[in-house]
Amino acid sequence: MVNDCIFCQIVAGDIPSKTVYEDDTVFAFLDVNPLAPGHTLVIPKDHHETLADVPEDTASDLFSALHRLTPVVEDAVDADASNVAFNNGEAAGQEVSHVHAHIIPRFDGDGGNPIHAIAG
Ligand code: 5GP
Repeated sequence: MVNDCIFCQIVAGDIPSKTVYEDDTVFAFLDVNPLAPGHTLVIPKDHHETLADVPEDTASDLFSALHRLTPVVEDAVDADASNVAFNNGEAAGQEVSHVHAHIIPRFDGDGGNPIHAIAG
């Protein structure tokens, strides 16, 4: 755990969050500032800054969770599709330096592209 990392503090339960999913290595919770209903963040429990820093077995767990959670999140809010994206590094708009995937539910006709919005 990195003490000044918001997401490490969320995993530890020191900062409240709305948990979507949890297992030994992965944690998923609702984004506090959602771009759409059901906007979910999926993170490894261990602190790694970017995708390249994540050990391969943890990356596998992370993508497995994304694979399983994306349709569940879509169904939960009756979405038609979703954007699944990483802002991977500061220059790409990553504001929280604990690697995380966004699952952003999309609805027919909702317009725009939230990838631009989450790139800060
Ligand atoms: P980034 O720009 O780093 O890809 O996205 C960081 C995301 O974390 C943002 O969408 C932001 O709303 C979310 N976020 C930042 N702080 C908190 C927090 O304390 N709790 C939750 N649930 N989400 C947060």
